[in-house]
Amino acid sequence: MAQTVQPGKFVYFFSAGRTEGGAGDKKLLGGKGANLAEMTTLGIPVPPGFTISTEVCTYYYANGNKYPADLQAQIDKGIAELEAAIGKKFGDKANPLLVSVRSGAPVSMPGMMDTILNLGLNDETVAGLIASTGNARFAYDSYRRFIQMYGNVVLGLKHHDFEHILDGLKKSKGVTEDLALDAEDLKKLIAEYKVEVKAKIGRDFPQSPKEQLMGAIDAVFASWMNDRAITYRKLNNISEALGTAVNVQSMVFGNMGDDCGTGVAFTRNPANGERKFYGEFLMNAQGEDVVAGIRTPLSIEKLGEKMPEALKELHSYADKLEHHYKDMQDIEFTIERSKLYMLQTRSGKRTAFAAIRTAVEMVDEKLIDEKAALKRIDASTLPSLLAKIFDEKEKKEVLAKGLVVATGLPAGPGAASGKIALTAEKAVEWAEKGVKSILVRVETSPEDISGMHSSEGILTARGGMTSHAAVVARGMNKPCIVGCSALEVDYKTGTVEFNSGTAKAVKMKEGDHISIDGFTGQVLNASLNTIPSELEQVFVTKTLPMEKSLLAQQYARIMQWSDQYSRLKVRTNADTPEDAAVARSYGAMGIGLCRTEHMFFAEERIAAMREMILSSSLEEREKALAKLLPYQRADFKGIFSAMEGLAVTVRLLDPPLHEFLPHEEAQIEELAKAFGKTSQYVHKKMDDLKEFNPMLGHRGCRLGVTYPEITAMQTRAIIEAAAELLKEGKKVFPEIMVPLVGHFKELANQAKVIRETADAVMKEKGIKVEYALGTMIEVPRAAVTADEIAEHAEFFSFGTNDLTQMTSGFSRDDSEHYLPYYIEKGIYPQNPFQVFDWEGVGKLVEIAIEKGRKTNPKIKLGVCGEHGGDPASIGYCHRVGLDYVSCSPYRVPIARLAAAQAALA
Ligand code: PEP
Ligand code: MG
Repeated sequence: MAQTVQPGKFVYFFSAGRTEGGAGDKKLLGGKGANLAEMTTLGIPVPPGFTISTEVCTYYYANGNKYPADLQAQIDKGIAELEAAIGKKFGDKANPLLVSVRSGAPVSMPGMMDTILNLGLNDETVAGLIASTGNARFAYDSYRRFIQMYGNVVLGLKHHDFEHILDGLKKSKGVTEDLALDAEDLKKLIAEYKVEVKAKIGRDFPQSPKEQLMGAIDAVFASWMNDRAITYRKLNNISEALGTAVNVQSMVFGNMGDDCGTGVAFTRNPANGERKFYGEFLMNAQGEDVVAGIRTPLSIEKLGEKMPEALKELHSYADKLEHHYKDMQDIEFTIERSKLYMLQTRSGKRTAFAAIRTAVEMVDEKLIDEKAALKRIDASTLPSLLAKIFDEKEKKEVLAKGLVVATGLPAGPGAASGKIALTAEKAVEWAEKGVKSILVRVETSPEDISGMHSSEGILTARGGMTSHAAVVARGMNKPCIVGCSALEVDYKTGTVEFNSGTAKAVKMKEGDHISIDGFTGQVLNASLNTIPSELEQVFVTKTLPMEKSLLAQQYARIMQWSDQYSRLKVRTNADTPEDAAVARSYGAMGIGLCRTEHMFFAEERIAAMREMILSSSLEEREKALAKLLPYQRADFKGIFSAMEGLAVTVRLLDPPLHEFLPHEEAQIEELAKAFGKTSQYVHKKMDDLKEFNPMLGHRGCRLGVTYPEITAMQTRAIIEAAAELLKEGKKVFPEIMVPLVGHFKELANQAKVIRETADAVMKEKGIKVEYALGTMIEVPRAAVTADEIAEHAEFFSFGTNDLTQMTSGFSRDDSEHYLPYYIEKGIYPQNPFQVFDWEGVGKLVEIAIEKGRKTNPKIKLGVCGEHGGDPASIGYCHRVGLDYVSCSPYRVPIARLAAAQAALA
């Protein structure tokens, strides 16, 4: 039963006899506390305890780290009730109550905050623990662990302050395992630990259990604002205002002997989603041993050999919990003297592969419905489904040969292979020559962006999952491994060394070939082939039949459900028939943006383009444009064919013309010669085209206004292509889009050229082509005068890249240098070029929608900036009532799912 919040109530109890709250109370009791209460009510054995609510955390930070006046009394009452529930007393010399103190936020933040176990032990109660358990080694081990943990978390000592004492003792005894230390050794260790504590903090280790408890509660609330937690929240969009709860729970021990143990398990496989109980455990250990990786845990099946009854019971609770929560659960358990206790349950984190499989299979098992299934999948994780992979057989062979030289943190999914490039410049240089590289750095910084772009993947020695390299690589969909501590980079000599300490060190140099697996974090001393993802093999290259891919079948069902529940349509940004075909394989419902300028860069076209730019008269320009016309027409025929039956929005030429001219002297001279001009003439022309602010310069419709013949040529190419295809019996729906309009007269001017040209072509061809004429809304002036503009447009496509740039005044091209600081300081919650700034730029979009619809109620509205592929921004597009989003081909699946999630929210 969910708890009604009672003002002034801060402590909520849970025991078999009396439980306050349940799974519905995550906001008040945190995820852990709410689920402990829920499990207790379900009759699952949970050690009793109480939860101090998140309201206390909020109060603590709002009042200069002070607590509500009544908190102490409520905690005392909680302890008294706990004592009564389990028949032990806090601080008792004969049979002491010991507790754990754990954080638990409303949204799971695994490992980010602090935990303390065995609290309540002191020089006297340790004797009581020996007396009540008859196990001196266990009691001393618990006490020394407590001093170590409490010393670290509450008193601020470092791990190594204790570790070196422990290591010293083990060395002097000639042993390597903690388990080889006996009771007397541990007693000695405790004495040394206490000396260390006094030396470091200037007072004795606290002996009063009550003082220990308040210190621990303090530390857990304080850990809400530690660096790890802050970074994690930022990365996962978790609000700081939520606060954490604190759970005080009676201890059960997995380290009392060989009939004890502790472990973690998932009700299904969190990597691939298979419906198979999956977990690890350690005999005779406490929870932290599993997490810390000091000892290698055993797979959960082995528990059946040692304690079959406990495993059977664990299975039954796992089943009960999965059915109860209707989701895959991640559980923690402890076995004390053969008795099983459940310490936590929460919805399990999973890969995109597992998310798809569990969602679909749970629908088939009738555990959830399709809508719930769609909500379960984190759309932002879908790129990993489409990332390149290694050929499985080839990778197995490489693994068998022991060619894994290191393992780091898998920060960006996907497989990549290439030559080691130690600088961004090298990666760029090689990319220009078609050489594939892996950018290997100690760490990356904003200067490395171009190199990150040019490389196949990124490997860094330092950094965590939220480091620069990790964040940027994920943004670029690049395979990435960070925190590869075995890697040493020597930029001076151009060499790297992989030295994990376990195998022979491997020396390599810049230019040598390596491969990285961003799914697992493995670095391989081999040149492995990468192949398209399983989904790409099924849907794009069609080299794998659907029947052979369970993933593809399940993914297809998710996508079908997505389209069924979404209102927003999903189009793609594509400039070539190939990209259009890929996008269509992934379910694109048309092209929302075809950037025509990309078509002018190919070898034979750039010459005609340059000729057009260098022209000094209309006549010369028209001659050059006539050369470009057949290319454009062929391009459009290709794209319209690839998208047959669907709309294709073609945008007229947008970038400033200087972007098409060469920069090197030799090329300039060559160009001059080719067109019978002097190189001085070319230089003069280039000077004329130079602009201080090219992004605010002679581009977009301003080109068409000054050179209407460009607009006419492009319109002719579009309508001729459409006419020819119509005659072949193909269905085509061209939409002609004018970029960078700010004033309705700009659009009216261009519309006249477009309509006259289109009419002329239709007359020549003797066929009517249905086409739409619209504009981008990417200049703030266009947004605020959208009512006037809409009178000349059949559609608006919000160019949120330029609109963000011009509204906020951030350069699209180099704000990466300072925007990260803005985000760090919380000025902007996210990069506004990635996640749409609906609080600011969004205001203009909303004005434009309202005004546009006022004068043209039938106007079609979409987005074609980068935001069209970002799940959070897609949610915004749905809320404000746009008709479609358009994104790059590989983000189409993300957008389809996000559109459905927005509709179901
Ligand atoms: C935009 O500005 O959002 C847009 C889609 O156009 P481009 O990125 O080509 O400037
Ligand atoms: Mg633009």
